[in-house]
Amino acid sequence: MKNIINMIKYLKGTHRKLTLLLVLSIVRAALYVYVPFIFRDIINEISRISNSSGQNSFNQIYRSLLILAAVLLLERLLEFLNEKFSDTVKMDAITFLRQAIFPKLMELSVSYIEKERPGALAQKVNQGIYDFMDWLWNFNEWLSMYMISSIFIIVVLMINNIYVGLVLLVVCIMMVLINLRKVKKTKPYNNRANNYFEKYNAQLTESLSHVATIKTLSAQNKINSLFNQATERIRKYRLEQFKIQRRHNTVRDTIGTIGLLAGVAMISTMATKGKYSPGDIVLVAYLTRDLVLSIVPISRFIDQTGNAEVTSARLLKLLDTKPLFEDKPDAVSLSSLQSIKFDKVSFNYPDSPKKAIRDISFEISKGKTVALVGPSGVGKSTLTNLILRFYLPTDGKILINDAVADTFTQDSIREKIAIVMQDVALFNTSVLDNIRMAKPNASKKEIMEAAKLAYAHDFIAKLTDGYDTIVGERGVKLSGGQKQRIAIARAILKNPDLIILDEATSALDSFSEKLVQEGLQQLMKGRMALVVAHRLSTVRHADEIIVLEKGKVEERGLHQHLLKTKGLYAKLYKMQSETGIIEL
Ligand code: ADP
Repeated sequence: MKNIINMIKYLKGTHRKLTLLLVLSIVRAALYVYVPFIFRDIINEISRISNSSGQNSFNQIYRSLLILAAVLLLERLLEFLNEKFSDTVKMDAITFLRQAIFPKLMELSVSYIEKERPGALAQKVNQGIYDFMDWLWNFNEWLSMYMISSIFIIVVLMINNIYVGLVLLVVCIMMVLINLRKVKKTKPYNNRANNYFEKYNAQLTESLSHVATIKTLSAQNKINSLFNQATERIRKYRLEQFKIQRRHNTVRDTIGTIGLLAGVAMISTMATKGKYSPGDIVLVAYLTRDLVLSIVPISRFIDQTGNAEVTSARLLKLLDTKPLFEDKPDAVSLSSLQSIKFDKVSFNYPDSPKKAIRDISFEISKGKTVALVGPSGVGKSTLTNLILRFYLPTDGKILINDAVADTFTQDSIREKIAIVMQDVALFNTSVLDNIRMAKPNASKKEIMEAAKLAYAHDFIAKLTDGYDTIVGERGVKLSGGQKQRIAIARAILKNPDLIILDEATSALDSFSEKLVQEGLQQLMKGRMALVVAHRLSTVRHADEIIVLEKGKVEERGLHQHLLKTKGLYAKLYKMQSETGIIEL
C-alpha cells in the first residue's frame, strides 16, 4: 500500500471531496447491513401472528415495512448522490493528478528522457495514473459495499452465534491471505509484463512517427519482428501471471464454498433444535450468503491493489528521478550573458567510456561569432549540449561572464540562448503559437515584427489561414526553409544574448538558404553567435573558426589564415568548392 498512499498524496487538492465521498459510502454500507434486520423483525412478527394472534403484531409489521421503505429510499438517494458526486470528484482527481505529474516530467533531464524513450515513459505515466484511479474508484465502491458490510456482518454473526461467526471469520481470513499470496507471487511477472508493455509503446510511437523512413527503407519486416518480440513477451508474462491467479482463485473459492456450506449447516442444525426464532435464522443465512458473496469482489480488489501498487511504484520512481544535476542552492539568476569560455573541457556521455570531446578551450564574447566545423561525430553538438547545460563537463570548466557556470541557474542561462537547428521542432498548433512559444506574453504585433525580420512574414501571410494556420505534426505542412524561418522568428522574439546555429541551413537548397541567411543576419546582429556547420560557406566571416577532429581542436583561426595553413580546413574547403557545396 506504500506506493498507493504516496500517490494519494499527489491528490492533495481533492482530499476533502474524497473524504466526503467516503463518508457517503460508509453510511450506505450501514444501511445495506441494516435491511436484513428489518426482515428479521417482520418474519418474527409473522410467526408470532401464526402462533397467537394480535393487533400488536400487525402494527409492528406495518411499522417495520415503513422503516424498510424509508431505508430503501434513503439508500437509493445516497446511491444517486454518490454517483452524481463521484463523477465530478473523479474528473477533478484525475485532472489534478495529470497536472501535478506533467511539470515533474518536464524537470527530467534530456538525456534521461532520450535513454528511457518517450513512448515508454508515456506508457508508464498513463498506466500508473489509470491503475491508480481505477483502484481509487473501486476502493470507494468496495469499501462501502463489501469491506465495511463484511465487518458489520461478522460482528453481527458473532453476536448472534459465536460459532458461525468464528467459522466465517476464519474462512474470510484464509481467503484474504490466499489472495495476498497471489498478489505477491504475480508481482514479478506483472513487473516484467509492464516493462515490455512500455517497450511496446515506445516502438509503437517511434514507428508511427518514423513511418516514412521505415517505408522508404522497406524495413517493415524488421520493425514488425521487433514489435512482435515485445508483444510475445507481454503475452508470456501475462499468461504466467494468469496461471498463478487461476490456481489461487480455485483454492480460495473452494474454501469460500466450504465456509458457506458450513455456515448453512450450523444454522440448520440450530433451527432444528428450536434455539432461534425463524427471523434470526433468516437473518444469519442472509448475512452468511452476503459475506461469502463479498469475498470475490474483495479478492478482485486485492488483485487491483497489487496492480496499482506495481504501476504506481514505477510511476513514482520516474517522478522521483533527480535531474542529471541540480542548481546549486545559492545559484543566482543570470541577468545578461556577456561571454562563455570553455577552459580545457573534456566530456564523455554517461554510460559511454569514450570521450566525445577532449581538452577544448575557446571563448565567445559580446558581438563575436565563433564557428565550429568538422565532419560528423567530432563533437560539435556535444559542445552545444554543454553550453545549454544538458550535461556537465567531465573535466575542465565552463565560465559564464568569467564566473563558473554553476553560479547561475540553468533556466536563466537557457533563457539567454536561442538555438536554430537543422531539425526544427514545431508543435501541431498555429504559426502564431509556434513563434509565441519563445515569449508566451508576446502580442501578435511583436510576433509579426519578429516574422518580418526573419523574412517569414510574406510566406506566412500567404498561408490559408495566415498566422492562424495549423502547421501539422512537426510542421509537415511547411517546407524546410519555411520551418527554418519560423524558427528564426522564434529566436528573434526571444531576444537572446547568444545565438547557436546548429547546422541551421545544411538541409536547404541554395535558394531557400539565401532567404534563411538573410533572416539569420538579422538574428545575429549585435549578438554573440556560435555557428556549428559542416558547410563552410556559412562560417567564412566568423571571428574565429575552430576545426574539430575526433573531439579535439585540430586547428583554429580566421578563414584566410586557415586557408593559408593548408590543413584540414583548407582541404575541406577545397573539397566543398569542387563539389559545388560552396559557392565561391
Ligand atoms: P557532431 O555534432 O560533430 O556530429 P556529436 O557531438 O553529436 O558530433 O557526437 C560526438 C561523439 O559523441 C560521437 O562519437 C557520438 O557517437 C557520441 N555521442 C553523441 N551523443 C551521444 C549520447 N547521447 N550518448 C553517447 N554518445 C553520444
